[in-house]
Formats: sequence, structure tokens, C-alpha cells
Amino acid sequence: MISETVKEELRDKGIKNTRAKGVLLEILKKVHKPMDVNSLHKESQKVTPVNLVTVYRTLEQFQQKGIVQEFLGKESTKLYEYINKNTKAHPHFSCEKCGTLFCLGALEFDDALYFSNMAKKHKVLSINITLSGICESCLS
Ligand SMILES: [Zn+2]
Ligand SMILES: [Zn+2]
Repeated sequence: MISETVKEELRDKGIKNTRAKGVLLEILKKVHKPMDVNSLHKESQKVTPVNLVTVYRTLEQFQQKGIVQEFLGKESTKLYEYINKNTKAHPHFSCEKCGTLFCLGALEFDDALYFSNMAKKHKVLSINITLSGICESCLS
């Protein structure tokens, strides 16, 4: 059920390969959009019994190892998104009607620089921009 690529990725990052971690990474890689802890928990439960605490701990570890990035969504919900070294900073679009969060295209180097410059002397670690409105499918 857990693919070799996922197992390898965990191994590469020095993360002990457990079923729960494998399942969570598999889900995060598949969805290609930010998810909150509860939806991740719900999704992983479909595959294997995982408790919520494990989901929290795993996400924390994934974040430390740079496999996921955490940011705040609507109403300060923490959202997690799979990243790897090729992931570029990109804005998100949040639908106010259905609550879906979409990844938008990557920022160009100049755009990233523009935002980084706005921080002036602060050190920028990541750029999180969220646009909100009504998504395509809710519009039609
Ligand atoms: Zn929508
Ligand atoms: Zn994204």
C-alpha cells in the first residue's frame, strides 16, 4: 500500500518508517494542496488506524525535516502541504464558499524578491500568500 518512493523518501530524511507516517506522506503527496490536521486524520483512517496525536506528531516531524510546510488558513487553522526541494513559493486561493484551498502558480523570482524586499531587514523564511474569493466550481 505504501509505495517504494515514499519509503525511500522517509529513509532519506532519516525518519523511521512506520505505517502511519507512510500513509500520511502518501496522502500529502497525492492531494497536492494544503490540508488541515482533521482532514489528514480522516483520510489516513481510511487506510490504517491512526490516532490524532500521531498525526500531529508526524506533521511536526515532517515539518522539521522539510517535507511539509505549515501555514495558517482560514480562521487560523493550521494547514500542511507537501514540499520538496523543487517546490517554489506559490500563493494559494481560498474559496469562501466550499472552503477548498488551491495552489496557484509559482512566484517568479522577481515576485519573490518583491515580497522579500517588503520585509526589509527581517529575514524571510517563507512566503505565504492567500487570495480568497469564490472558486471556479462554486461560480458555475
Ligand atoms: Zn468553492
Ligand atoms: Zn500550495
